[in-house]
Amino acid sequence: MQKETIAVHGGYDNKEGWGTMSVPIAQTTAYAFRDAEHAANLFALKELGPIYSRLTNPTNEVLEKRFAELEGGAAAICVASGQSAIFYAIANVAEAGDNIIISDKLYGGAVTLLAHTIKRFGITAKVFKSADASDLEELIDENTKAIFFESLSNPQIAITDVEKVVEIAQKHGVITVCDNTVATASLFNPIQWGVDIVVHSTSKYTNGQGTAIGGIVVERDGLNDFFKDSKRYYHFNTPDESYHGLVYTDLPLPCFCLRIRLALLRDIGAAQSPFNSWLLLQGLETLALRMEKVSDNTLVIAKYLEAHPKVKSVNYPGLTNSSEYAKAQKYFKDGKASGLVSFEAESYEAAKSIIDSVKLFSVVVNIGDSKSLITHPASTTHSQIPQEKLSKAGINPATVRLSIGLEDTQDLIADLEQAFA
Ligand SMILES: *Cc1c(COP(=O)(O)O)cnc(C)c1O
Repeated sequence: MQKETIAVHGGYDNKEGWGTMSVPIAQTTAYAFRDAEHAANLFALKELGPIYSRLTNPTNEVLEKRFAELEGGAAAICVASGQSAIFYAIANVAEAGDNIIISDKLYGGAVTLLAHTIKRFGITAKVFKSADASDLEELIDENTKAIFFESLSNPQIAITDVEKVVEIAQKHGVITVCDNTVATASLFNPIQWGVDIVVHSTSKYTNGQGTAIGGIVVERDGLNDFFKDSKRYYHFNTPDESYHGLVYTDLPLPCFCLRIRLALLRDIGAAQSPFNSWLLLQGLETLALRMEKVSDNTLVIAKYLEAHPKVKSVNYPGLTNSSEYAKAQKYFKDGKASGLVSFEAESYEAAKSIIDSVKLFSVVVNIGDSKSLITHPASTTHSQIPQEKLSKAGINPATVRLSIGLEDTQDLIADLEQAFA
């Protein structure tokens, strides 16, 4: 089935249950067992079914099935936020003494989590250049457990050379984890390019209206076979003491998401609320339409900015002179490059003045809303990062970042025009 169809129907059969057209919200903490044996079977995984909403929930399950299908994966697990999706994907493979390799162009929250917070748990991060992966191979050693990157990075708006990263990772038997939040499941599917694990902050384009926080992890088909005899990933093929000696790769279920659910979600518990899953299901129904419109709108705004005398440079992968243009054409559906565009104003003061003058754009540190948003990274999201590291991360004091929504572009341009004046 095509993605537009999956986004509307995937994972839900309205002939079962109450027959509701809208997926019901299973707003419940726990589930009644038929009898003691049923309960025992569920706990022993002899029978599959809901026990407690920290582990599974029927509304979440619809979102998981639909999302896995959309990304072309074998299974998915939804969690409370994009941050927890990233944490679980990494904590599922790495432990004290291990290392991971992360892209030099990442979301700020991913940097603080992966380079700082998990260091306190004994997992270190090395950084590779995601534009061409030229330094990736030399960073891999026997304790490397994952290579983490964003397909289209926020806020640098740079595209990873996914094919090259995957080729090197497969050569060394290391799994790849791709944050596909900005490109979205509609424009790009990392699993089709050989990526093992896909994570999303569903708070952004998946939701589409800025109404809920959520995250999801998707795994490709075939990981059980890949992990079966792997020394590097021994957790999956040796008994889990915390689950009466369960060996994950022995089960006929996709083992990566299963282990997140049975061990990490059980113990750490960043479970998604079923109401948020329902909001995300509403968002998915229009994802393809929105991403097409958002991408088209953003290209119009990028071209307007490019021609503006008070703009020094524009960064948008949909512009033919962008360093990212060829990669956008290669990887993304119809070359459409999503809704983030940044530009360099004449100075730090000029950037701040634009932010203070816009009326239609909202000054918000979010992306992927149907409403257009504007931020000045140097004075907000990236104000804790020292100057010399800022430019390395592709942020300049005069950089203004826009997340373009669904408004009419003439109105957006009129608003920017008066803000520049
Ligand atoms: C927002 C974002 C995250 C974090 O997601 P939350 O849902 O806010 O926890 C991770 N990665 C990217 C690329 C993001 O834009």
